[in-house]
Amino acid sequence: MPLFYKQSLLKRWWKRISLLLLLLLIPLLASSPKQMTATMVADSENGTKVMVLNYHKIDNTFISLAVRPDDFEAQMKYLSENGYHTISPDELYDSLAGTGELPENPVLITFDDGYVDNYTNAYPILKKYGFKATIFVITSFLGKDKNYMTWDQARELDANGISIESHTVDHKSMTDLTDEQLRMELVESKKKAEKELGHPVEYMAYPTGTYNLHIAEMVKEAGYKAAFTIKYGNVDKASNIYALERVPIFHTEDTNKDFLERIRYTPIFERFGWIKS
Ligand SMILES: [Zn+2]
Repeated sequence: MPLFYKQSLLKRWWKRISLLLLLLLIPLLASSPKQMTATMVADSENGTKVMVLNYHKIDNTFISLAVRPDDFEAQMKYLSENGYHTISPDELYDSLAGTGELPENPVLITFDDGYVDNYTNAYPILKKYGFKATIFVITSFLGKDKNYMTWDQARELDANGISIESHTVDHKSMTDLTDEQLRMELVESKKKAEKELGHPVEYMAYPTGTYNLHIAEMVKEAGYKAAFTIKYGNVDKASNIYALERVPIFHTEDTNKDFLERIRYTPIFERFGWIKS
């Protein structure tokens, strides 16, 4: 085959493929995020999809784990103005168990580790928008290290719509631990938080997101109702209750643009089976 013919054949194919791609993408890109969420809720065979956002620090430190307070405020304002409703882990659990209803466009806002800036910087913003949230705390760090909140601060949050849950005792990567160490991390963090807060603590998040099915089984044995990973995606009835998906929000070169892209496009990725395992 002469070279020029090969090239024109290639060009023709490329034109066809790009046209097809464009036709596929237009209806997706044309709809607004609000419409998109509503469509997804109606479309899902596995019930309402719940977005679980995952933050760490809310301060001006120049690291990816730290979202700036003004960016965090802009993100909460966006959720508030676009009809999102914040929920507690119990509300998520009850809806997955079929014993409770969720509001429209539900979102669970979570923070990992229990940094003191969650109390000083995030809490006033959450309060301003009347938002609920959840903080997974490293129980042995609270009140010991000044970067983390005190139990008094945790109790105040817990009494005001911010659920305090377990992120283990020491934040060790769980896949590196013996069964005995695993049990200690799970049981002792739960006991400590329950003693400090005065009520059952039934949810946990895996430190650094690492887990496997054996660890998930031990989480269940330790008495937790559900556990959160850093596996990317939205939660629905097809999710493993001991390996719930989250959408991490980081500080980037354009934090708020990336935030919008993550919350707009996660349902689309899932629809095409790009992220749900
Ligand atoms: Zn952590």
